[in-house]
Amino acid sequence: MTAFISAGHNPKGIKVDPGAVGNGYTEADLAVEFRNLVVSELLKRKVKVITDSDDERLADYLKRIQTGSGSVVLEFHFDAAVSSAATGTTALIGNDADRLDKGFAKELVESTSTILGIKNRGVLSEKDSRRGSLGLMREQGIVSLLELCFISNPDDLKKYHVNKKVLAIKIAEVVERYENML
Ligand SMILES: [Zn+2]
Repeated sequence: MTAFISAGHNPKGIKVDPGAVGNGYTEADLAVEFRNLVVSELLKRKVKVITDSDDERLADYLKRIQTGSGSVVLEFHFDAAVSSAATGTTALIGNDADRLDKGFAKELVESTSTILGIKNRGVLSEKDSRRGSLGLMREQGIVSLLELCFISNPDDLKKYHVNKKVLAIKIAEVVERYENML
């Protein structure tokens, strides 16, 4: 069984996709940093992990990976809004999400909200998100996309940086547990 852990957006490559920008950061760089923290924690726990590379477009990663019913698939993003007051963490799941997808996403967003000390914006189905449809959700297994906090909110980012290592350990623990359920 394998965990597929990716960073939304790619900071390097032929076609760079920085994602959202805010408070001196790009979403791609933040997501890569957090992905690396979670991956190193999973490797310590001897979980088999496949990740995207920093120069790989999301579409190419999704084409490359071979997920199955025993996979746990998780991608990190940072939310953004015009108002710097927008705050909190959100998990997204597919329109076809089952009990395990929902439970996984709920644990991710609750852990993130508690550890960062920011609002829990809940679990949204892709059709209820402003993204509409997400390629990630067509992968097999337990799948979720986690928006950690708002890149446009300086207070969210401050809390993220203070607590990111503790959060990465917790997220790795959740991934490992769901991975073992399958
Ligand atoms: Zn994103």
